[in-house]
Amino acid sequence: MRLIISSIFALAFFQVPELTRGEDFGYDGVIGPQHWGERYRECTGKHQSPININVLRVKQVTLPEIVFIGFDDSIDGVHVTNNGHTVLIEVENEPHPRVRGGPLDGDYVFSQMHFHWGDNDTFGSEDKINHRSFPMELHMVFYKEEYRSTSEAVKHPDGLTVLAFFYELDRHEHPAYDDITLALSNVTEPYTSVIMSHPFSFLNILPYDLRRYFTYRGSLTTPPCSEVVIWLDFEQPVRLAHDQIEAFRELKSAHGKITHNFRPIQPIGDRVVFYNIDSNYFSYNEIDDPEEQTTTSRPYRRRKGHNSGHSNQWSLLCCLSALLAIICCL
Ligand SMILES: [Zn+2]
Repeated sequence: MRLIISSIFALAFFQVPELTRGEDFGYDGVIGPQHWGERYRECTGKHQSPININVLRVKQVTLPEIVFIGFDDSIDGVHVTNNGHTVLIEVENEPHPRVRGGPLDGDYVFSQMHFHWGDNDTFGSEDKINHRSFPMELHMVFYKEEYRSTSEAVKHPDGLTVLAFFYELDRHEHPAYDDITLALSNVTEPYTSVIMSHPFSFLNILPYDLRRYFTYRGSLTTPPCSEVVIWLDFEQPVRLAHDQIEAFRELKSAHGKITHNFRPIQPIGDRVVFYNIDSNYFSYNEIDDPEEQTTTSRPYRRRKGHNSGHSNQWSLLCCLSALLAIICCL
């Protein structure tokens, strides 16, 4: 009898925290984003994320190069966890990958990465570009090294940086995502975790072009919505097959399948979004690189629109034509 009673207590002890975690916040109804502010005051702040990025209103800049450290390492002991809201990827062993440069002052150390998605392939990203939604978005979260931990970093306005990557559909599967898809199938139940079957490399799951990105000051997109994040939204999406995105929608929370987990866009207010373009970008892209012709993941070229480099070339061409016409007349 004593054994039965202690077993019931043990069960209750382990289940209560799980339920609490599951009820904390959600994406629908009384625990949905419209109600987060009632419990977490910062969610009603003026510098919240996500936002819509209007490309016509960004301020074009050339920031120092971002340095990605440990991104091409093969990392063992990578944990994949269903936390009831999303899937988290965490690294067990030190040293963790890190970033510096760009808009960042100092080194930022990897904390965790996770994903946001929608009910179908037409929406699901958190930030939007010109009101365009993407089916999924990856957030790689880093804390500022001088604050020593994520929990301390969230107390400081420059405490975190999140590298955000959008996804778009491709007819072909992205082979680097096979291990993630496999891990997902083993953590469909909430609060379950597995270790990835093969070594994991950050660089393999990212797009090719890491030099063009938008950056702005914002917040965590989940409660407590702390306004402590330097956002870097990379412009080139990662291309995944439909089935690879669908695998995320199989994950369950305490209330059933996590069909969507993105927060709606928030007012941009007085904030400026900066758009980083490498100063060498245009000359780099003019180089005839035979390797570039054979790869499918080359940096994509902007064909029209806000491209001052190309409009300069047009002006030069016009001037030359005019000069030629004058010479001919003479
Ligand atoms: Zn996120």
